[in-house]
Amino acid sequence: MNLLGVLGTVPVYQGWLPRGVAILTVSLALGSNFAISARLIWRHQRSTRSRAGLLAAGILAAMATGSSLRGIYNITGERANVLISSQLLPQVGSLLLGALFTVGSSLGFLAMVNERQRRELETHSRRDGLTGLLNRTAFFEAAHAYVAAPGGERFGVVMMDIDWFKKINDRHGHAAGDTTLTQLGRLITQHTRLSDLAGRYGGEEFCLLLKDCTLAEAQRVAQQLVNAAARQSVRLPGGQALHFTLSAGYAQRQGLHESLEQVINRADQALYEAKHAGRNRAVAGLPTAPPESVPAAPEGSTDNTGAASQAA
Ligand code: GH3
Ligand code: MG
Ligand code: MG
Repeated sequence: MNLLGVLGTVPVYQGWLPRGVAILTVSLALGSNFAISARLIWRHQRSTRSRAGLLAAGILAAMATGSSLRGIYNITGERANVLISSQLLPQVGSLLLGALFTVGSSLGFLAMVNERQRRELETHSRRDGLTGLLNRTAFFEAAHAYVAAPGGERFGVVMMDIDWFKKINDRHGHAAGDTTLTQLGRLITQHTRLSDLAGRYGGEEFCLLLKDCTLAEAQRVAQQLVNAAARQSVRLPGGQALHFTLSAGYAQRQGLHESLEQVINRADQALYEAKHAGRNRAVAGLPTAPPESVPAAPEGSTDNTGAASQAA
């Protein structure tokens, strides 16, 4: 369209075609550029729900319509006047459109900057400064919203706690403890999907909500994190390295009757068991009642979902 817009000016410049042809091609090129920009911003703002984006898309759509109409209206004769001093309606209209674009895009730009700053502030208030994970309040807000929404029926929870963290602080200092927390935050991010919720539950306790997840998947994630934590070392400023381990408890929601808090409690109970069983391991939280829609196991049969899986 841009090429067509420019090409339309050549025969007019050479005097072969009337001036209206150049106005038509340039106006259509401008109109299509505005329309494409309006569509892109509209699609983006639908996901971000940005009011500044809506304003910008609206102005660009008006510009697209105005430019195209002007091009079509100006094809012939007198109406093809492009003198700035012309009093013709289309000429005045396009000048007004130009003014609208300048003012509107300036306002839109300022509003977008403002909105981005507000969003960044909001993100900062939802994230834990040390680990970059969700803070406790934001974790629960997001988790409750997920559980209440359609499709949120099935999820897994992993609770984790650093082993002997007090000793790490005592031996290497509080700053080394902080570095350990930061490193664990990165590790958790690496081992979870973008869609999962990862939060700092308390001091050195972390909580994961794994969306649309089976017990086996929750176990895999918990065990991977336990193994990865035991494998890695934290580099300290003096060139020293410290090692730490992690204990984890995991659980899967047993049915619609079970609330988020109940699943978290079961995972927390399993974490407690992991600590008592010697730490550095992941343990499954046993369901308190048989899962909905799954027949109860016949008497005498064993259920191995509660077996502790020993870390490598
Ligand atoms: P366990 O294996 O039973 O979990 O033992 P632990 O030593 O990890 O547990 P405990 O609850 O005794 O100690 C937790 C420590 O975590 C105590 C507290 O000073 C420390 N802590 C909590 N938040 C932070 C933090 O933000 N930075 C640092 N460096 N330490 C923290
Ligand atoms: Mg601990
Ligand atoms: Mg603790």
